[in-house]
Amino acid sequence: MAMDFHHVTLGQRVLFGAGRAAENVAGEVSRLGATRVMVVASPAEETVAQQVCRDIDVAVFHDGVAPHVPVERAEVARKAAAEHAIDLIVSVGGGSTTGLAKAVALTSGIPIVAVPTTYAGSEATNVWGLTEASRKTTGVDTAVLPVSVVYDAQLTLSLPAELSVASGLNALAHCVDSMWAPRADPINRALGAEGIRALTEGLPAIQADPSNLEGREQALYGAYLSAVAFASAGSGLHHKICHVLGGAYDLPHAQTHATVLPYVLAFNAPAAPDAERRMAAAFGADTAVAGLNALRAELNAPRALKDYGFDESSIDEAVALVLPVVPPSNPRSVSAGDLRDLLRSAHAGDNFPS
Ligand code: NAD
Repeated sequence: MAMDFHHVTLGQRVLFGAGRAAENVAGEVSRLGATRVMVVASPAEETVAQQVCRDIDVAVFHDGVAPHVPVERAEVARKAAAEHAIDLIVSVGGGSTTGLAKAVALTSGIPIVAVPTTYAGSEATNVWGLTEASRKTTGVDTAVLPVSVVYDAQLTLSLPAELSVASGLNALAHCVDSMWAPRADPINRALGAEGIRALTEGLPAIQADPSNLEGREQALYGAYLSAVAFASAGSGLHHKICHVLGGAYDLPHAQTHATVLPYVLAFNAPAAPDAERRMAAAFGADTAVAGLNALRAELNAPRALKDYGFDESSIDEAVALVLPVVPPSNPRSVSAGDLRDLLRSAHAGDNFPS
């Protein structure tokens, strides 16, 4: 098949090494010539943040992290950055923490050095998200792409297995959705496929033994690839559904992705045979759906949206919210009835694709 595409690679330094976060953060602060550093971390992440920032001068620690970045929290963080004349943000934590740092960068242009402690992948994208009045808004801006990412698998050892699995499946969703997202191309599909392979290797190792550092490294590497693929390919059907559910019904991000993914994969796979074959190979399975099912069974993955606070009475409203944002690039056309069936199944955790 002829190759004809435009691909944009985002510019970012990636420093990867177990046990090397403090050293690598200090190196980046010095390289960037920063003198007024704000560290963003939630109270739960503060011990890790102190450890990671032990070799740098910190002007202020900011802990106002909340899921999906409420605009009020963003305003408070922006004010703190201005009051302390901040010239660099170091974010240490999961996607919610990176998200708050991005909200500050969006309006101030202050650069970010991101130190992720989950597999959400926000650190490798130029996508920001804010939630106001139960509606999540996302956008793309170069200002929010962290200038550097410091990956240290040791920092993820404390992430409980259940959260690691949900977060890792969120990363897997980035890989799968990249196969048919609006700007899918051979490069981001290759990154997505390698991400599926790495996550399929890393996540079961973590589930079996949360202290398995090699499994943690594979998962972190896979999470990075998944995010690069996602940033490049854009939001596909899966992400559009999950963004609506997360913003409108306050559902936990990673678990929502983990629950919805098999239904979207089963819906799209028959209409995307090349992507399907590629994903199957990456999973090491006969079909992509079989590969994802086997992985989910091994991981005891989240199964039903009703377990995470999504009420059946909200399905029709959710359908109405998702339908207008279905990407035209989706390999199959999507009707309100299709979405209703998909959300009904994901709500109940039944009609599992095979
Ligand atoms: P999260 O950041 O909310 O973290 C989940 C929980 O894990 C929190 O309680 C946190 O304190 C805890 N935690 C984090 N690291 C830990 C560690 N190492 N040990 C123990 N506990 C730890 O959740 P998340 O899944 O990382 O991120 C979800 C958010 O990220 C959502 O808002 C989502 O929209 C956003 N996101 C954005 C992008 C993007 O490109 N902008 C990409 C992916 C996710």
